[in-house]
Amino acid sequence: MDTQLQYINGERRTGGSEELHHIINPATGEDVATGYYANVEDVEDAVRAARDAFPGWAGTSPGERSEIMQRWSAILDARQAELASLESTNGGKAVKLATGFDIPGVVDNVSFFAAAARNLEGKAQAEYSPEHTSSIRREPIGVVGSIAPWNYPLQMAAWKVLPAIAAGNTIVFKPSELTPLTSLIFAETATEAGLPDGVFNVVTGEGADVGNAIITHSEVDMVSFTGSTRVGKQIGAAAAGTVKKVHLELGGKAPFVVFDDADIEAAARGAVAGNLINAGQDCTAATRAYVHSSKFEEFTGRVKELMEQVTIGPVDQTDTDLGSLISQAHRENVIGIVDRAREAGATVVTGGKIPDDSPEAGAYYAPTLITGAAQDSEIVQQEVFGPVLVALPFDTDDEALKLANDTPFGLAASAWTTNVYRAQRASREIQAGCVWINDHIPIISEMPHGGYKASGFGKDMSQYSLDEYTNIKHVISEIEPTAHKEWHDLVFTMD
Ligand code: NAD
Repeated sequence: MDTQLQYINGERRTGGSEELHHIINPATGEDVATGYYANVEDVEDAVRAARDAFPGWAGTSPGERSEIMQRWSAILDARQAELASLESTNGGKAVKLATGFDIPGVVDNVSFFAAAARNLEGKAQAEYSPEHTSSIRREPIGVVGSIAPWNYPLQMAAWKVLPAIAAGNTIVFKPSELTPLTSLIFAETATEAGLPDGVFNVVTGEGADVGNAIITHSEVDMVSFTGSTRVGKQIGAAAAGTVKKVHLELGGKAPFVVFDDADIEAAARGAVAGNLINAGQDCTAATRAYVHSSKFEEFTGRVKELMEQVTIGPVDQTDTDLGSLISQAHRENVIGIVDRAREAGATVVTGGKIPDDSPEAGAYYAPTLITGAAQDSEIVQQEVFGPVLVALPFDTDDEALKLANDTPFGLAASAWTTNVYRAQRASREIQAGCVWINDHIPIISEMPHGGYKASGFGKDMSQYSLDEYTNIKHVISEIEPTAHKEWHDLVFTMD
């Protein structure tokens, strides 16, 4: 069956690639849908549609854009249960998380950007020079080409698409080839809400061909990308060829610093939830716990206990805590990293295997706690993107903060302490786009998300994300008509 996998110029349609593609539920190995990916001609059509729609959309008032987005939010709200179920089956994600986190988050994002569209700010118009009045125009950039990963398919679509269109851009969006289904509904519901055809187009397929065709297209003005640091580097380099603005949200390896005055029960619970969210496939997941040596045994003992209580099961059951990884291939990566850590002398305190009672055809992996790994080892330095927490002891605050900053990444971090000065120091010195104090994971539509260092640059969500998708233009007008302006004499004294 052909589930039409493209959405171009306000219409769902089939893709031009030759092979029928299977979209699989990784928790069962069964097909969720089949269809054809886009080919280069489909990308051409989508870019043309976005280009043609741009002048009209850029010319709408913020109020008009906001009204459409308010309607869109209501339509999505009414379809939350259906979207959560599809997100769960397509990604092998526990339906509890899709229902309580992924989908309501998206509805809230749409409603936030409906309001934010009307609130683009700039420096006040004024006479900053005695002869001139200056004003700022915030203008959309044009056609945005946007590419997203599979871990939170609809949320990642929302984070890319919403600020772009709220600011008056049009977009060609490519979801991950593994999880395209909710993005297509996202685009359809936008049309239903009144978004003009061509403003939001979805093309699906692999990164190397469909993704590459978007980012190298001469009619695409900006590229916004969420995904791995490896692909982000390639995208930055490719976009440089046509001098496109680039916005990169990349990988993470979040530290979780537990000082000796922390509430250890709260920290242990926070570490387990912060690590296991989305089966650990979260760019901000707690992955490196640095724990004061006086509390190390207590903390790791409690984390082990809690990890062993997690319910693993079919993702459509509402009491399942931990779903599947995204694919068998990705599970092989996770197995490989944990095995190499074990071979290098680390201790697997719990997990480190395929869970005994997990659904057989699924790509499940047990909650895993590792101690005794070296700071410079692969498992501490590189993303695992699975339910794997590494715990390491420290003795001084200086050491803890140094270790927290000692990876290439800088996306998110947390500090656990009851001492306000320690909390302030940690939030100041940890190099990351978000530092939680006594919590780890919560995100908020009004507040920015984005990285430092190899985690990329640019912000998603919040008013700050609108800056990414607007050009700032200075308009400077003479106040009184004057043919002989004083500054001309600096160049040439005219009679
Ligand atoms: P990925 O980098 O492999 O793929 C991301 C997207 O890029 C996919 O749509 C893919 O098809 C496309 N792509 C791949 N190669 C391409 C190319 N050469 N040209 C154009 N497009 C290409 O990432 P993934 O495995 O889908 O997702 C996991 C990664 O995403 C992790 O590294 C995670 O940390 C990161 N992530 C980051 C954030 C953030 O906000 N910083 C959020 C979620 C996920």
